[in-house]
Amino acid sequence: MDVLALWQGFYNDPWFWQYPMATLAISMLTFLTVAIPWTIVAWIDPPSLKKYKIQQKPFEMKKYLWPSFGRIIINNMILIGLLILFWPLMKLTAVHNWDLPAWYIIILQLLFFVLLDDFLYYWMHRYMHENKWLLKHIHSVHHRIRNTCGINGNYMHWVEYVLTAGLALVGPMLIGAHIYVVWIWVAIRQIEGADGHIGYDVPWNPAHLFPLYKGPVYHDFHHAKFKGNYAGFLPYLDEYLGKTHIPAYLRYLKGRKAGLTAIEITQQEEALRNSQRQRQG
Ligand SMILES: [Zn+2]
Ligand SMILES: [Zn+2]
Repeated sequence: MDVLALWQGFYNDPWFWQYPMATLAISMLTFLTVAIPWTIVAWIDPPSLKKYKIQQKPFEMKKYLWPSFGRIIINNMILIGLLILFWPLMKLTAVHNWDLPAWYIIILQLLFFVLLDDFLYYWMHRYMHENKWLLKHIHSVHHRIRNTCGINGNYMHWVEYVLTAGLALVGPMLIGAHIYVVWIWVAIRQIEGADGHIGYDVPWNPAHLFPLYKGPVYHDFHHAKFKGNYAGFLPYLDEYLGKTHIPAYLRYLKGRKAGLTAIEITQQEEALRNSQRQRQG
């Protein structure tokens, strides 16, 4: 078969456009819808929001704003190439576009996707930290940024991008989900991905409506401290499964519960560090 005929085959296959291509487009659109407004907020860095800023230092805007867009474009090009390459296999999975299940089945399926993806992501992410080669050559790219803003959420090595995308599709492929449910799920997944990097812990963040989610502060501490808080979205895995919670993150939550602002908590952390240093010295 010549290349042109192969391309025409893709072009004329509506299922190819509905399944991998539309799913990717929806996932990107959702990510940018959450990430761009928050990136603009971080760019302006308004004094009125300073009390909600998780890390009381400047965002790494100059260095990583445009490279973040560059990575998004390159990573998606690579992903599209792989989707074309693996389309004959992907077509065989049970994801479908016939009858839509009842609403409560859809809710249960989405819940299952969130929990399964978070569980799988926890182990993949933790392994990328524990395996020296993976950390050095792949995951360290995402960790170049210590104080992230929304758009930095997809600043990562293409291998990590492809693996993360693949992981998100495990649930839908496993149960043979309807394509509309897959679209809703990837939108939720990208809201998670963007929200974890916005850098502000505002009380009116709609993502707080999600049960068990503790807000962007959870993943922000992963970037700030590097070790611990490995799940993608839900902190319970670090707490109960891996005992990989970051102590400073737990102190932050306690401080917020007690009514302290992010500024006051940062000051408290500094005082704690100073007293530890004095004791050691
Ligand atoms: Zn990491
Ligand atoms: Zn991150």
